[in-house]
Amino acid sequence: MKPDIEEIFNASKNLKKADKALIQKAYDFSMKAHDGQLRKSGEPYFNHVFATAKNLAELGMKEKTISAGLLHDVIEDTSTTEEELQNEFGGEILSLVKGVTKLGTVRYKGVERKVENLRRFFLSMAEDMRVLTIKLADRLHNIETLKHIRPDKQKRIALETLEIYAPLADRLSMGRLKGRLEDAAFEYAYPKEYEEVKKLLLEKKDAKEKYLIEVRDKIKEKIKEANILNTKVDYRQKHLYSLWKKLQKYDMDIGKIYDIIALRVMVDTIADCYHVLGIIHGEWTPVPNRIKDYIAMPKENGYQSLHTTIFTGTGGIVEIQIRTHQMHENAENGIAAHFIYKIKESDNRKSEIEQFEWISKLKDLNKEDEEEKPEKFLEKIKLNFFHDRIFVFTPKGEVIDLPEDSSPVDFAYAIHTDIGNHIQGAKINGKNASLGTKLKTHDIVEIQVNKNTNPSSKWLDYTKTNLAKREINAYLKQHSLLSKFLSFGKN
Ligand code: MN
Repeated sequence: MKPDIEEIFNASKNLKKADKALIQKAYDFSMKAHDGQLRKSGEPYFNHVFATAKNLAELGMKEKTISAGLLHDVIEDTSTTEEELQNEFGGEILSLVKGVTKLGTVRYKGVERKVENLRRFFLSMAEDMRVLTIKLADRLHNIETLKHIRPDKQKRIALETLEIYAPLADRLSMGRLKGRLEDAAFEYAYPKEYEEVKKLLLEKKDAKEKYLIEVRDKIKEKIKEANILNTKVDYRQKHLYSLWKKLQKYDMDIGKIYDIIALRVMVDTIADCYHVLGIIHGEWTPVPNRIKDYIAMPKENGYQSLHTTIFTGTGGIVEIQIRTHQMHENAENGIAAHFIYKIKESDNRKSEIEQFEWISKLKDLNKEDEEEKPEKFLEKIKLNFFHDRIFVFTPKGEVIDLPEDSSPVDFAYAIHTDIGNHIQGAKINGKNASLGTKLKTHDIVEIQVNKNTNPSSKWLDYTKTNLAKREINAYLKQHSLLSKFLSFGKN
């Protein structure tokens, strides 16, 4: 049976007739291109690209990104050429699809040490925020259908998801996506621990839930009395993987974790948030040192909420999170959510958006576009956080993250002090190069060392990193003291 395109339309907000027509066209094109291809599970390959597009619609992405989601595998996996895609869908969708294809060539090799570099490299390659979102939506479907894959591959893909993709979703503050990626991967990456945590959670959940319902009903009553309008109170269960990570910090003692299930109160304004906090603290005794104001002091990824933990008075302890509806959207859907609210153009909300540092960073890069229509805004955002960084490789494929204009000397010190101190020469992309050569992103750099070579002050002219400068200076200082001492002896 063909996947129903209405599912995409329904998941998406505010699609116009022309938008739907574009998505329909991408749907038809992709279905034809993938005709006859099957996934490991035996279902049509098209189901995968459809699911990717649906994920994108749910994330709040717009028609071009959804269409590119439907088309994301046609260049790599079908006979479709770039020219055809360009002719049918234009340069923008082509560039999105090409971006996703390019990202597909990056592989996680399980070298723990360089994982952060790889994440940043990934970000730098995804020049367009939308490319990264498509890649994440693609990975979400792949990880949720992992049971059909060979066991040895399952483990690699699961670890890659936990180490690279989920942290990226987190950095884009796409909380819901992050949670789904992690929970689907957890089972395959750490099967024993997964079962253990699942069991622990089951044992605790019912008792916790009882207190929660008790508190929830009381809060509902109180905020109604206080005349706070347009509120929503519900609760969420902590994702298994993040519960496991937390358990590790508390010697696997689930009794010490209060937010296994947490109550969420959502209100209209920031003032309402503090009002509700006051009501709660008036009704129940808060647990000391558990009150966190992430509204005044947002987390690094922009997360905002008030957290408090209370004694229910009936033997339970419950965590409560209070936030505005918009903060909730932001936490769940990240960049897409910012975008949806931007469209509404309420001044009040705009200033709230500006509190997010990374959004303002993006804005700085696009100053000239500020007067443009908001629809254009996201499309033009380039991920330029890393415009002053380069990403180069060791011959083994490890990624080294360096400032722009770095040289092989910087590279050598980034690997190891000994390699830096004894660098004699370098090969860049297989060719001999001088130590002063400026490296470029994607260069593969091989360092030749010689035990008898030592740092010289000349090297300082072509180092950019503080690490290299510090090591060279340390060596020179030590060396000059030593030579003074030696020459003193001679006199
Ligand atoms: Mn795919």
